[in-house]
Parts: sequence; C-alpha cells; structure tokens
Amino acid sequence: MSKGNISVQAENIFPIIKKFLYSDHEIFLRELVSNAVDATTKIKTLALKGEVKGELGDTKIEIKIDKDAKTLHILDKGIGMTEDEVNRYLNQMAFSSAEEFLSKYKDDATIIGHFGLGFYSAFMVADKVEVITKSYQTDAPAVKWTCDGNPEYILEPHDKKERGTEIILHINEENTEYLTESRVRELLNKYCKFLPVEIKFGTKTESTWEGEGEDKQEIKTEVDDIVNNPKPIWKLKPADLTDEDYKNFYNELHPFSQPPLFWIHLNIDYPFNLTGILYFPKLSNSFEVQKNKIQLYSNQVFITDDVKEIVPEFLMLLHGVIDSPDIPLNVSRSYLQSDANVKKINTYISKKVAEKLQSLFNTDRKGFEDKWKEISTFVKYGMISDEKFNEKAISFALLRNLENEYFTLDEYKEKVKVNQTDKHNKLIYLYANDVKAQHSYIKAAKDYGYDVLEMDTIIDNHFMQHIEYKGNEVTFVRVDSDTPDHLVQKDETKESVLSQAEQDKVKDIFTKSVKNIGMGHIELKAMSPTDHPVMITKPEFMRRMKEMQAMQGMDMNMFPDSHNVVINTNHPLIAEKLIKMKSEEKKADFAGYLHDLALLNQNMLKGEELSAFISRSLEFVK
Ligand code: ADP
Repeated sequence: MSKGNISVQAENIFPIIKKFLYSDHEIFLRELVSNAVDATTKIKTLALKGEVKGELGDTKIEIKIDKDAKTLHILDKGIGMTEDEVNRYLNQMAFSSAEEFLSKYKDDATIIGHFGLGFYSAFMVADKVEVITKSYQTDAPAVKWTCDGNPEYILEPHDKKERGTEIILHINEENTEYLTESRVRELLNKYCKFLPVEIKFGTKTESTWEGEGEDKQEIKTEVDDIVNNPKPIWKLKPADLTDEDYKNFYNELHPFSQPPLFWIHLNIDYPFNLTGILYFPKLSNSFEVQKNKIQLYSNQVFITDDVKEIVPEFLMLLHGVIDSPDIPLNVSRSYLQSDANVKKINTYISKKVAEKLQSLFNTDRKGFEDKWKEISTFVKYGMISDEKFNEKAISFALLRNLENEYFTLDEYKEKVKVNQTDKHNKLIYLYANDVKAQHSYIKAAKDYGYDVLEMDTIIDNHFMQHIEYKGNEVTFVRVDSDTPDHLVQKDETKESVLSQAEQDKVKDIFTKSVKNIGMGHIELKAMSPTDHPVMITKPEFMRRMKEMQAMQGMDMNMFPDSHNVVINTNHPLIAEKLIKMKSEEKKADFAGYLHDLALLNQNMLKGEELSAFISRSLEFVK
C-alpha cells in the first residue's frame, strides 16, 4: 500500500468542485459512464487489432446501487488501468485537467453542464471514491485507489480477477437522491440513452408465450435491463433505413407527438464531423412552444438540448438530434458563436434543409403544397432571418390565394401583372388575414377582378415586409385598407355626379356626425354607384406598424387606432337621398346611420354604439 498527495497546489480544488458545481451535480454520472464507454471502446479496438489475448467476452457496462452501503457503482469491462496508469491518469493527468478547467471556468456556470470535469466530478456527490481496476495486460495485478475528498489518496493491491474498472461512489448526505433507482434511471435516460456500449441497470421480467390453446402458458424470464440504444439510427446509413424506422425514432424522442412531416438525415465528415436527423414537426401557428427540441450529442453522449448557438435560430423549430465531436464544448457561449466550426455547421445545416425542401418541391409539388400550411411559418422565418436560406427559398416559397391555389413568387407576379400593376408600375398584392371579418372587402376586390391572397399566420407581416424590402417591386395591401377602386391605384378617375358645392355640403354633414376616427380623415370619392355608400378603410402602413409593435410587445398607444371614412359621392343614397333631405337634423342622422353600417361591416361597431344602432334600426322597420 502506498499513500500520496495528488498535487502540490491541490488544497483548494475539492471545495471548489463541491461548491461551484453545485447546480450541475448530476453530470457526474455522464462523465463516469462516458469514461467506461471509452475504456470499452478501446478494448474493442485493441481486440480488432489482435492485441488482446483470449476472448473479449461480455462488455456490458453496469450501474448498481447499494442502498445499505450508500454506494453507487459503475462497472466496465474495458481496458482497465495498471498501477502506473492509475498514477498517471488519476493522480496527475485527470487531476491537472480538472484543476485547469476549474480555474478557467469557475465563473461560467453555463458551460460546466456542457463539459464535465471528467473523473473528478465524482467528488461533487461523493465523500469518498474508490477505483478498483485491472488492466487488460495479462500480468498486471489489480489495484485499488481510494480518496476521500482531500488531496491524499491510498493506492493498494486488490484481488479483482476480471479485466476492467469499478468505480465506487460513497454518496454524501446532500446527494442521497443518487441512491434512488428512479433518479438514476432518469439520469441514464437523459445522458446515456444512446451511448454506444450496452448499459445494464438491474433486471426486468420478460414474458413469452409457449404452447397453443389450453396449453398456452406464460414463461417469465429475468433479463438484464439495458437502458440505452447503442445503435441509434442517426449513426446508420440512410439506405438501410425505412420511413418506419425514422418515424419510430421520432416517437422515441418525442413520445405522443404527431408524426413528423418529413426529415433530413445529416451525415458529413469533412471539414467537420457531424451526423444527425432533423425532423419537420407539424407546426402550429405559434412557435413559442417549440423550443429545446433538438438535442446535441458528442459521440452519442448527450450534451444539451439548448442548441441556440449551434443551430441557426429559425432551425430551432425543427426537432431531432445533432451529433458532432467537433463542436467545442469546453468554451463559453459567446465564443461558440464566433467559432469557425460552429459557423460552418450552421451553414451546412441551413443548406441541407433548403435542399431538402427544394427537392420535395421539385419531385412532388402537390405534396409540397399540401404540407405548405405546416411548413410555411418555418420557411418564412428562415427567409427573413437567414440570407443564404432566403436565396434558395425564393424558388419554392409559396403564396396561397383564397381559391386555395398556390403560386411561387415568380408565378404570382405573372398572374397579377396585367390587372394589378398600379400607376407607379408597382405590383399590388392584395391579401386578407381574416376571411370572415373582411368578407365584403374581399368580395369588392374580387368584383374588380383582383386576386386576393391569404396571409393569416403570425409571421406574415414580417414576411410581407421582407418581400417588399427585397426590391421585388411589390406592395402588399390588405383588402380593407382602401376603397376597392383605389386598392390598385390607376390613373383613371371617375367623375362625380355632384357639383363641387354639393360635395362640400356632403363633407360638412359627415364631419359633424362622424366621431372617433383617431388620426384618420373623412374623404369624398367618386366611385361606382354599386360600391358601398360609406366605407371604413385602414391605411396599410399605419395598421401594419401597429400590428408589428403589438407583436413585439411594445406600447400600442404610439400608433392610435385610426381609420378613414370614405364617402362614395356617386352612390344614390348620397347623391340623391342625402342631398335632398329637408332638415339638417335628418341629414346628420342619416349620415350617422350610414357610417354605423360601414363600421358594422368592419366589425367595429361595439358596445353602446351598437346598442344605439340596433334601437334605431328597430325604429326604422316599425
Ligand atoms: P478524460 O476522460 O477527459 O481524459 P478523466 O478525468 O475523465 O478525463 O479521466 C482521466 C483518465 O483516466 C482517462 O483519460 C483514462 O485514461 C483514465 N480513466 C478514467 N476512467 C477510466 C475507466 N473506467 N477505465 C479506464 N481508464 C479510465
């Protein structure tokens, strides 16, 4: 038996390990199991090279809890360590790397969860740690290393016969949770679910049936409970996988979700190494709920489900896994964003996603259209936020009109070019965002032969702005933002049947009876006699600004609610009826009534005004 001191400046390290890493205690298990996996992978590699004598035998890793002894055990049948290696790896190397890590990052708690301390993280949860290990080299005797959380350790011979390492953690008072089966199972499930070596945690009963009919009987057998799937499908070749495999895996990641729309299998080994599968989920109209659905692995070890810095923001709407040993995990987050590999990964993923969408569009346009509603939020978000993605998506992004026809941006230009080009040579794209509420405006626009798009998702305001901004000579105009004759402004003007004096009179009447229009105004216009007599319009620019501000949670009062009141001087109710009324009072009353009707048409007549309107209408029909 020998005693030693771990390192000269070591006095401070144990308190630091215990204190600074308080919040991320649980990663110790990931670290220790990863070491066991590494040791097992190494022995397998050596065996392949013919450097191991005899059979490898079972290489399962095992996790055990001994409640009475208050210990947690991690056992592997990997390469093990000789006494000399224990000295080198545990007393010097592992320690100095832990020390270096802590001194560098002790203030940056966010990365500690990403990158453990390796072996020494055991001391976050254990007062005492024992390592019993026997090297694969046949003549090496087994040794036991013991350390109870201070720089002193004991190294002594042990009678362990089989190759491999057992780590025994004497769990401390504050961390007894790691002695309960459910908690350990939860951690194994979180961090070790896809590790490449089988991990056993207890046993379970499996039932099989033997015999037929009357003789049929259940055979129960106790089998190892293997908690991981050592060959997750992202590591397999796409050619060897069926749609069913992908769907099942999705289900494994996100139980009880709706099946995904489609997926992309990522696989690249130059200039960086990355595998994974990204799924397009069925997205609802809001993307609030969709966070943390991509898991990041490094060589099948779970690292985090917060991939903000690694994946372009719009791609965070996707689900799935990314596995890359080339993402530097031992650096701070702000550094990650500027890391060259991370940037390349970003670009690669974004490109892959665009290619997948393009190929779906090319090979099955109808199928693509059917899925459009569910992927449009995602594509639009991508176009707005990622220039490269935008360049590609321009050719498959779709616009949908109220007839449920789909157009690419180019196709739509062609469709409306003749009828919807205004006097400034701009294309006017008309849209509705609430088909029911805007019914009469839609009808009016269609009567003018215009096409109307549906733009009803939360992201559409930004998307339209984006298309306009991209210099496409396009302006989006909501159907209720102007009178139908003016939605697409052309040079032709209609003659009013009223004289200028009569028009002034009409304006005067309405100015007196119309209130509460904010910054809006009253306007006379000579339209067709079949257009409405009075219309409410909400100028596109003001309305859109207000909506965008509301979306960003800003004070809406900066832009007060405004609308314009447009009076059609060619409508018989104005040109003949109103103008000929005898008393001023009757005129004001009638003007007010027409205004109320226009408000009602915009679903803007509410409360007291609505009640008054109803009473008045009842009087009329009496
Ligand atoms: P890292 O794994 O990052 O190298 P650790 O502190 O986790 O750092 O471990 C230090 C070294 O100890 C490892 O590199 C390995 O050589 C050795 N080691 C740790 N655990 C085991 C194990 N279960 N079997 C064999 N060697 C191990």
